[in-house]
Amino acid sequence: MPQDCVFCRIVRGELPAEVVHREDGLLAIRDINPVARTHVLVIPDRHIADLRELSAGDADLWWQLTQAASRVAADLGHADGYRFFVSVGPGGGQTVFHLHVHVLGGAMTRLPQ
Ligand code: 5GP
Ligand code: ZN
Repeated sequence: MPQDCVFCRIVRGELPAEVVHREDGLLAIRDINPVARTHVLVIPDRHIADLRELSAGDADLWWQLTQAASRVAADLGHADGYRFFVSVGPGGGQTVFHLHVHVLGGAMTRLPQ
């Protein structure tokens, strides 16, 4: 697990974050720079650099991330639906190279950087 990965450090409790949900294998935190009223990141505990690193053996983990996204969105008042996206690699706008799913609820106030 990279020592300097910001999301690994949040997972380990070394950096503060506003945790909205935690379960075995993942946590969900509020994005520090939100682009919608609700902007949550669902982050697996395990360091996975990006979506392309997932293998068939990670199918359960991917399912768990999607279920957690739905649950968090509903818990935060977005049972009617939410946006779900993943930035993949520098060309896809990814800036933190630890897999995470963006969950946006409500109108977007601006586009992600
Ligand atoms: P990406 O651009 O990789 O898809 O998304 C990374 C997201 O992580 C960005 O929306 C950014 O605002 C958020 N972020 C970066 N560093 C931190 C941090 O230390 N804490 C929190 N809560 N969010 C962060
Ligand atoms: Zn990491």
